[in-house]
Amino acid sequence: MNESCIFCKIVAGLADAEILYHDDLVTAFRDIAPQAPTHILIVPNEHLDSVNHVNAGHAEMLARMFTVSRLLAEQEEIHHTGYRLITNTGPDGGQMVFHLHLHLLGGRRLRGLG
Ligand code: AMP
Repeated sequence: MNESCIFCKIVAGLADAEILYHDDLVTAFRDIAPQAPTHILIVPNEHLDSVNHVNAGHAEMLARMFTVSRLLAEQEEIHHTGYRLITNTGPDGGQMVFHLHLHLLGGRRLRGLG
């Protein structure tokens, strides 16, 4: 655990969040400042700063992150209308919290990137 990381604190139950899913590898909770009717963050329990720190040893965790995203999209009933999964990386990517995460966004028509 990274003591200064808000997402590590949420995973450990030391900071408040609306937790939707938690298992041995990943945790999912609602974004505090939602950009769409559904805005959920899916994070690994292990602290990784960003995609820049991902390697082949993380394969199971990455597969779990996507599988949980798909399950949550079904739970939110946005799987038929569609949704977007985003991972911001670094300053130019708009990353604000340096703990790897997927944004699951849906429930409205999202505009194109850029
Ligand atoms: P990013 O810009 O990709 O790093 O996104 C970070 C996201 O984390 C933003 O959408 C924030 O609204 C969200 N966020 C920051 N702090 C919290 C928190 N304590 N609980 C839930 N979401 C948070």
